[in-house]
Amino acid sequence: MTIAQRIDYIRAQLNERARLVAVTKTKPVAMLQEAYEAGCKLFGENKVQEMAEKRPQLPADIEWHLIGHLQTNKVKYIAPFVALIHSVDSLKLLQEINKQAAKHERVINCLLQIHIAEEETKFGLSPEEAETLLNSAELDSLPNICLVGLMGMATNTDDETQIRREFRGLKQVYDKLSAIRRTNVAFRELSMGMSDDYGIAIDEGSTLVRVGSAIFGERN
Ligand SMILES: *Cc1c(COP(=O)(O)O)cnc(C)c1O
Repeated sequence: MTIAQRIDYIRAQLNERARLVAVTKTKPVAMLQEAYEAGCKLFGENKVQEMAEKRPQLPADIEWHLIGHLQTNKVKYIAPFVALIHSVDSLKLLQEINKQAAKHERVINCLLQIHIAEEETKFGLSPEEAETLLNSAELDSLPNICLVGLMGMATNTDDETQIRREFRGLKQVYDKLSAIRRTNVAFRELSMGMSDDYGIAIDEGSTLVRVGSAIFGERN
């Protein structure tokens, strides 16, 4: 199958319940161009430098989503253009995003990454930590960020029951935290689901799926 055929196939399954973020990490610009021509406008990269290098080589109406762990000292490289940061996991990072966004007179939309997997290695906040952050007084001093939802990654397992349980748990956290309304907190996005589990994720209420290898093939 071509990239365009794979995108069409995934889109048919999403059936407008969730938007597709094409995860383009490690893939050459020519492949991104092919996905763009097939109608993809949302691209996800996990590394700041790779995103910053690819962006000028591609059409300007692409929305760039940072999906990987972000270090505070790298925020400045993406602040002029990034559309959504999926992987915020500390107040300190949020403060730096706010500072860099202000320099460009922008408001940068962010998701809090929630740890839902059993694996120890994955980044993210606990639901309790996210709730504390969303209610903290410090947010009032961050007018250049907006927290628009949550992101999570399920355990890398073949056990669909476990994956479903983890996504369902994240949706419950999302529903609870959605009640929090502040000038810079307005939940509308739940980023969950990747190549192997996006079907389950959309059943469980995902609004953004992040799909790489099912579009572009395995990464080296
Ligand atoms: C790489 C990556 C994806 C996409 O993974 P695939 O299994 O190739 O679809 C999704 N989310 C994050 C955070 C990633 O790093």
